[in-house]
Amino acid sequence: MSEEVLDVLIIGAGPAGYTAAIYAARANLKPVLYTGLEPGGQLMTTTDVENYPGYPDAVTGPLMMNDFQKQAERVGTEVRFGVATKVDFSDKIHTVWIDDEKEIKAKTVIIATGAKAKWLGIPSETRLNGNGVSACAVCDGFFYKGKEVAIVGAGDTACEEAIYLSKLCPMVHMIVRRSEMRASKIMQDRVLNTPNIKVYWNAETDEVLGDKKVEAIRLLNNKTQEKTEIKVEGFFVAIGHQPNSKIFADYIETDAAGYIVTAPKSTKTNVNGVFAAGDVQDSTYRQAVTSAGSGCMAALDAERYLAEHF
Ligand code: NDP
Repeated sequence: MSEEVLDVLIIGAGPAGYTAAIYAARANLKPVLYTGLEPGGQLMTTTDVENYPGYPDAVTGPLMMNDFQKQAERVGTEVRFGVATKVDFSDKIHTVWIDDEKEIKAKTVIIATGAKAKWLGIPSETRLNGNGVSACAVCDGFFYKGKEVAIVGAGDTACEEAIYLSKLCPMVHMIVRRSEMRASKIMQDRVLNTPNIKVYWNAETDEVLGDKKVEAIRLLNNKTQEKTEIKVEGFFVAIGHQPNSKIFADYIETDAAGYIVTAPKSTKTNVNGVFAAGDVQDSTYRQAVTSAGSGCMAALDAERYLAEHF
């Protein structure tokens, strides 16, 4: 059993975790960052990132996350590969278990474990992921400027993304599995009043078609069992996200969807010394740059907490 008591333990290796690490390291807090199973997070499955300031010629998601890691390490972060599997936040010194065995003690913990986009789960969606299939219209929509696309989902995210895409694409085909949408009335109205969004009710995606990239989708009407094909070059899945907050559930307050609740204008959770940053606490913006911003906030909050309590 290890005896180390860290000032700052960061869980998660996306923009929030690495930015928290950069700030904590530069404050001489010697942060240790555990990467989780997918170092780099959701950006590792993105191709070009054009909306992160500072990269005028765009950058691939994996390269950008590699840069984040190098920067965090250069200023003094210890990056370790391992998955946080259990926590005990009942004492002033917090305990986190890595890979079910290694026990780490820390005065502050920054949770930056991110969220996972939900997928339909059909093989062709997985096969063409990154080659026309995307779970983020704001990230990837620009690459489909002037092209026809489809989007699946009927919540506020799907509506917002359909409207976003309608400003870039001549036609957005919106696939809704029931005869009504879950989204707020105002968002539904906006979608239904946008001439270049065509809604397909009671429709399920039977298959994404294309050899190396998306060329079309085949829909199944779940009332009539009729199948139709639509030619599209982009296929966006917007059926919700799952925040990675499960292991903290016994201690940390979350909303009904599992997002960690933080105090207004802060990254403080309901447990003293535990902070949350990035997509695990943000169901609204979910951008690399907003995650990075909240990672910075978490490190500053942790630094202040340490100065006050230790
Ligand atoms: P939601 O869970 O609200 O909606 C998910 C949608 O995806 C539902 O319409 C659901 O259909 C559909 N869906 C789920 N699984 C499948 C599937 N396998 N095949 C087809 N469709 C599927 O997620 P959102 O990301 O839209 O929103 C999350 C939260 O964030 C909400 O509270 C929302 O209000 C909020 N939000 C607010 C925004 C704002 O205020 N500007 C913007 C974006 C999000 P069904 O209805 O049939 O279950």
